[in-house]
Amino acid sequence: MGGMYMDDGRVVVNFEQMEYTLSVLGKCTDDYMYIWDMKRDYYAISKRAVKAFKLSKARFYNTGEVLKSVVYPEDLPRLEADLAAIKERGQRTHNMEYRWLDTNGVPVWISCRGEVVLDEEGEVHYLVGRISEIGKKNKIDKITSLYNENILKQYYQELVEKQDIYGYMMVIGIDNFKEINEKYGYDFGNKILANMADIIKGKAINGESVYRMEGDCVVILDYKNVQSGKAKELYKRIRSAIDESIEENGYKMFHTISAGAVYFDSREKEYDKLMEQVNFALHSAKLQGKNTFVLYNQKEYESYIRRLDIQECLRRAIENDFKGFELYYQPIMDVEMNTIHGAEALIRWNSEKYGFMSPVEFIPLLEESSLIIPLGRWILETALKQCQIWQGQVSDFRMNINLSFVQLQKSNMLADAEECIRRIGIDVNNVVFEVTESGEIETNQATQNVLKGFRDRSISLAIDDFGTGYSNLRYIKEKMFDLIKIDRIFIQNIMQNEYDYILVKHVTELAHSMNLMVCYEGVETEEELESVKRLRPDYIQGYYYGKPMNAAAFTKRFFQSGI
Ligand code: C2E
Ligand code: MG
Ligand code: MG
Repeated sequence: MGGMYMDDGRVVVNFEQMEYTLSVLGKCTDDYMYIWDMKRDYYAISKRAVKAFKLSKARFYNTGEVLKSVVYPEDLPRLEADLAAIKERGQRTHNMEYRWLDTNGVPVWISCRGEVVLDEEGEVHYLVGRISEIGKKNKIDKITSLYNENILKQYYQELVEKQDIYGYMMVIGIDNFKEINEKYGYDFGNKILANMADIIKGKAINGESVYRMEGDCVVILDYKNVQSGKAKELYKRIRSAIDESIEENGYKMFHTISAGAVYFDSREKEYDKLMEQVNFALHSAKLQGKNTFVLYNQKEYESYIRRLDIQECLRRAIENDFKGFELYYQPIMDVEMNTIHGAEALIRWNSEKYGFMSPVEFIPLLEESSLIIPLGRWILETALKQCQIWQGQVSDFRMNINLSFVQLQKSNMLADAEECIRRIGIDVNNVVFEVTESGEIETNQATQNVLKGFRDRSISLAIDDFGTGYSNLRYIKEKMFDLIKIDRIFIQNIMQNEYDYILVKHVTELAHSMNLMVCYEGVETEEELESVKRLRPDYIQGYYYGKPMNAAAFTKRFFQSGI
């Protein structure tokens, strides 16, 4: 084989020497070195290329044909035009970005550069150069050395278009990463992230690929020989490896990880949808107390999406002048006098989309989004105005208004209440705020302060649903409330269950001994009424006297036709 000639006609080396030099150079770089003898149509490329691209050999004749199978078809005409310029029109360099297919047939962007070497006659003899994967250069995350999400997205979409696959996507996140960063600084946070990525790379060695997501998350994609259970098993292996590394580091980098996973097949073409699902599974893992693995569940996701949608409808309704909301009122009777004592204001919502919905369903959504604060103000104002109207009929008519712990915690409830009472001009003795114990009163100092503020200003408070949840006899002893409302569950059981009977009897006596008032909730029948009356409650509220109804119905029933 003859020597090689550069542009200036200088002899350099022969093909074998050149090929040898390139193979040595190839070991020093991630690039693929190549030499193409255009006269013999013989092509040699770094052997690693066979593992990365759709090439069966690293040395071959008939280059044009082989290129046809490795080059992404759409890019082929562009490449052929460039090669024609070299062969026929004296172009001396090759510099192109286009796509080669990887071993799975998925296109990968490459940069291909080459120099032409002429023979003694000045004819094109060799093209020598290198190919590099563009993605590798600017699509790798600096902290973890993993491909970033863009690559995953591109890869996934091209993969499902081309092949029938079954696999899973698993997202792994560091628990409390924000706190870790805040407490120990970003460098430390980055170290933990890099350490997790290394461990995952070390465990994901059976054909899984790993990518860095935003924040503290890493995603694993696996579609090779996947059976169910594989994701969880990998998560467990990663978790124990992380635990070991924490131990080895003397617990300096203590943290836990959570994971969410979803299994898919090629029918799921939308990457974004899959990502939403896998992120929801991770979100569920965090809600379940972290340090755990959760598999995506379609039903739970749908109900989550429904909740979000209801929240959005609630927000719009509130913005739209409280459209669809209405206050209902349920009578509260004075047992001894057998007259109406007042009413409890109960919110109702008739949504355009979801129709009539129970407050038991939508109040938690309002609380979660803090929308209960603006709606609570509206309820307060509407109920107090209504109270004032009914006071024209029964001069000391009282209005009971429910307060959510979110209102107590996050809004200036006390000032709002005082301002509204004053503005409407209602006597403070005719308003009662009902608070349901949810553990908050017990643990939250701010909430306790607000309640104390109500008491200091002689605004009445009732403890609602007493006997359920966290209700505490201490509330009676310390006189934190003026009125104890005993929950319907106990009242309705009184006739059958002796324990409930005794409990209600004693709570009533205890409250009375402390000069507190007692109201029984949920009396529905005459029979129930007769049996509870013996326990001497001050007030009774229940369907027996009236279901919650709107203001017009309430007026008609209690003030126009007598009771
Ligand atoms: P709650 O404050 O304990 O209200 C009493 C609930 O018991 C009302 O349900 C009422 O309709 C129901 N009830 C009363 N008597 C009977 C009876 O004899 N039999 C039966 N089966 N039920 C009876 P509602 O209106 O569905 O409200 C449920 C809960 O939603 C309320 O329980 C309260 O915690 C919350 N809520 C309602 N309106 C508001 C509001 O304006 N603000 C806040 N923060 N919460 C509210
Ligand atoms: Mg209530
Ligand atoms: Mg209640």
